[in-house]
Amino acid sequence: MNILNKINKILNKLPLADCPLCHEMADKNGLCCGCWQDILTLQETRPVCFQCAEPCLDGNICGACVKNPPQFDALYAAFRYEEPLVTLLHRWKYQAALPYSGTIAALIKLVLSKLPPQPPFDCVMSVPPSAQRLIEHGFDHTAILANAVAQQLNLPIISPKLIERQHRVPQASLNRKQRMSNLKNSFTLHFDACGKNILLLDDIATTGSTLNELSGCLKKKGAKSVSAVVLSRRYKD
Ligand SMILES: [Zn+2]
Ligand SMILES: [Zn+2]
Repeated sequence: MNILNKINKILNKLPLADCPLCHEMADKNGLCCGCWQDILTLQETRPVCFQCAEPCLDGNICGACVKNPPQFDALYAAFRYEEPLVTLLHRWKYQAALPYSGTIAALIKLVLSKLPPQPPFDCVMSVPPSAQRLIEHGFDHTAILANAVAQQLNLPIISPKLIERQHRVPQASLNRKQRMSNLKNSFTLHFDACGKNILLLDDIATTGSTLNELSGCLKKKGAKSVSAVVLSRRYKD
């Protein structure tokens, strides 16, 4: 366990005095009752395609996935990308992971309790940042997410150190087609995924192209299935 995880574990046990979103008194989830309830109302209830999480009339599989199936076997997005979740995720990712990681762990616990039936997972992994991004942010927030999930499901974790990610132009500035070519060959895996059912974690998916590229690499390394779970799916309209 690295030092960040140790500090994280200690901080998760301490009650936060203030809700970091509104400065009311925080409860055990790290937010005040009002902000926590506001986030719970964002839980996705629309029928969505089980493979790409885009809204889909019958909640089965959408036409786009039939025509061009993604590399991952399923994508589950728990919350709509709206306030106050947007601010929470943004601060967690760009400002400081630690004050928010107890809340993130509580949210992911809720997500896991609502997951549709899946194959039994063999291991958990997160989408890591590139080395340059890691230096800029100072921490790997998705590893915190994966650690919380591995702990709750009692599963081994694939260390982000075994996944090399090339630094590329930020995906947010690109359209769907550019995102796909920008990510091509951006991941190198230094472990054997042979026969494994992998639970892949990320905070937000927009087009799903990062999850798709990494899932493709895992499949090339012999992974049996890749199920992706994200806290939120942001739809481009
Ligand atoms: Zn609050
Ligand atoms: Zn789909």
